[in-house]
Amino acid sequence: MYISLTDLFKIGIGPSSSHTVGPMRAARRFLMELPDGALAEVARVRVELFGSLAHTGQGHGTDVAIQLGFCGELPDEVDTASIPGRIAEIARKQLINLLGKRSVRFQPLTDLRYNLKDLLPLHSNAMTFRAYADEAAATPPLAERTLYSIGGGFIVDEDEAFVGSPRGGEATVPYPYSSMAGLLLHAKREQLPLMDLLRANEHALRGAAATSAFLDRVIDTFFNCIDRGIATRGELPGGLGVKRRAPDIHHQLTVERGQRRAAPHKMLDWVSVYAIAVNEENAAGGRVVTAPTNGAAGVVPAVLRYARDFCDVEHDGLHDFLLVAAAVGALCKMNASISGAEVGCQGEVGSAAAMAAAGLAAALGASNEQIENAAEIALEHHLGMTCDPIGGLVQIPCIERNAMGAVKAISATSLAMRGDGTHRISLDQAIDTMRRTGADMQAKYKETSQGGLALAQVEC
Ligand code: SF4
Repeated sequence: MYISLTDLFKIGIGPSSSHTVGPMRAARRFLMELPDGALAEVARVRVELFGSLAHTGQGHGTDVAIQLGFCGELPDEVDTASIPGRIAEIARKQLINLLGKRSVRFQPLTDLRYNLKDLLPLHSNAMTFRAYADEAAATPPLAERTLYSIGGGFIVDEDEAFVGSPRGGEATVPYPYSSMAGLLLHAKREQLPLMDLLRANEHALRGAAATSAFLDRVIDTFFNCIDRGIATRGELPGGLGVKRRAPDIHHQLTVERGQRRAAPHKMLDWVSVYAIAVNEENAAGGRVVTAPTNGAAGVVPAVLRYARDFCDVEHDGLHDFLLVAAAVGALCKMNASISGAEVGCQGEVGSAAAMAAAGLAAALGASNEQIENAAEIALEHHLGMTCDPIGGLVQIPCIERNAMGAVKAISATSLAMRGDGTHRISLDQAIDTMRRTGADMQAKYKETSQGGLALAQVEC
């Protein structure tokens, strides 16, 4: 399995790729893949959530996502403005329209079950779906299936490739790879920059025009999200009382622009406000792109916007940025994880920072070795970072954490480009360290909101 651009950058909705995008796709998939004719017999559907989905699912909108998935919605197509009204209507009428074809009884309080006790062996983010022929769900289910949301909106069942196993080793692309070392070797043999190899791979999968159109769509979605975020005031949902900050910070920066009194380091506030804008949109359930996840959705667009607005990177350079960023994200996913529930926040914001650092280096004309070094520096200094969202909401510390990840990514690129690309720790070693560190991390630090900052009292 080759993890391509379209696997990494999934256009969807907030607030979480593993807890919102994945469950929505899983609920839809469960119904879509029922045996022929079975949907016509279904009178009730239920889902049981395990692990991190049970502990923080409500804060992450898993309940909403599953209901939308049962209705047949897809994360990249659902009209985000209509969601609150639709969910309220399901609760009021106690009816859900399965795949838009069949209305059945649905009581969110009993049909969405949060199993806080048990963990399924394959992954913390597990969902067991059941469809019944009787409305009371008193007889054995017609169909039962467990699906796992493994981060970044990816879903798998027990038989499918699992975390750490999808490898870029098949002959569907001209330059398969499963490590940065392998990718660098291709580049050395072919005497090509990394982005040219990666572009050739993507073209082999879907053609040049479709690849370019997809990249343009991702860039538009990124930048529209930033623009919406800096234009939207108010309080984020969830009850923590978190006020959106992006509009005020952006206003201050706009006023200060061109003024001599603005200290040079304030340029970093632009990067921060771009990331904050995206993550506030994400927290509000808006349209975002997994990069590589929703929780870490702000880092890559913030650095991409910085490249465009402050480094004069143009259209083709932005494409180079995303091609290389996606490859680094794919390596993190293949050889460690991009799921906070599996390896903590190092896998989300850390991977995003590595992606952004490599992407920026590529867009600025760095050598292949400098690109690899940039990604390695960015990831190395996120190692060990836990996932501890307060109240299970992707707000504190997630929103600021993306701003910090973006700033670190730029510093990593800058440092790497001051060297000649030689360094002691490779990106592959840093990714493997992330995997091992994540395995050692206690469950309370992996998106369960039972440890770390999640235990801090929030003053409302
Ligand atoms: S702490 Fe990091 S990994 Fe956890 S939800 Fe927030 S952004 Fe995602």
